[in-house]
Amino acid sequence: MSGSLFIVAAPSGAGKTSLVRALVKDDDRVRLSVSHTTRTPREGERDGVDYFFVSQQSFAEMRDAGAFLESATVFDNSYGTSAEAVNSLLAEGLDVILEIDWQGAQQVRRNFADSISIFILPPSRATLEQRLRNRGQDDEATIARRMRDAENEMSHYIEFDYLLVNDVFEETLSALRAVVVARRHSLAVQKQQHARLLTELLA
Ligand code: 5GP
Repeated sequence: MSGSLFIVAAPSGAGKTSLVRALVKDDDRVRLSVSHTTRTPREGERDGVDYFFVSQQSFAEMRDAGAFLESATVFDNSYGTSAEAVNSLLAEGLDVILEIDWQGAQQVRRNFADSISIFILPPSRATLEQRLRNRGQDDEATIARRMRDAENEMSHYIEFDYLLVNDVFEETLSALRAVVVARRHSLAVQKQQHARLLTELLA
């Protein structure tokens, strides 16, 4: 039985990474895909855990060899999702989460028509700005740029299947779990999972 593919996107500052980590931690049927990126690791980030940190050259080689399910340039760095890693997890029957931007989401939808996409929004503009400010001692120009980047990302919310406003973390996490659980109970998934039972019941 094949697992389901979930796409989660959000502007930075919406709380996406914390939500996805909490979801994955408590659910052993779901895995987070680890992306490849050309950006330099931030403090505390580990290679192979947060990302596979690769050179521009190896990224380009992988892309040219068709190794990516999707890839995009975000904030001047390249990011890509390994097709092989995702396909093998799905083949094991595991659900896979892709934490990617709107450009990647568009590419994945084209190839996986039954993927489920979720967009996470901050509860207000002021909260978003506060969260972006709290990230470090950045100057006003950097904050303004991050706000513009966030607006650009948010303008794509309409392309997604589900929209979550992350005001109270635990409530948003429950909503995210509900989307995953609902998908597992969809007819398409249940028919595969309970093929034998259905045959027996309807014999
Ligand atoms: P960060 O560098 O802050 O971890 O991520 C920056 C942006 O890149 C985020 O919006 C994140 O979702 C996106 N991103 C991370 N990995 C991938 C990926 O594999 N593909 C795409 N398209 N976007 C990604």
